[in-house]
Amino acid sequence: MAGTDVSPGSVADERAAEERYNPYTGRRVVPGVEDSVPTAAQLGLEPPRFCESCGRRMVVQISPDGWWAKCSRHGVFDSIGLARR
Ligand SMILES: [Zn+2]
Repeated sequence: MAGTDVSPGSVADERAAEERYNPYTGRRVVPGVEDSVPTAAQLGLEPPRFCESCGRRMVVQISPDGWWAKCSRHGVFDSIGLARR
């Protein structure tokens, strides 16, 4: 969700390098193959446990008003930020 800005001229490269991982299972997302997402996760109740960009396991912290999860490479994702989008 975070890196949606595409710089001009690098679309082909970007597509080749674009890898997405299921934030709940850590499995690589393959276009056309449906991956199951837990119901609680779909409702936003369950924090993601894996980074969508690299599939690393993130440090997840539940807080009173939501959660945040931190990838050592891609930084912090939080439930408040996602709700704002
Ligand atoms: Zn990451």
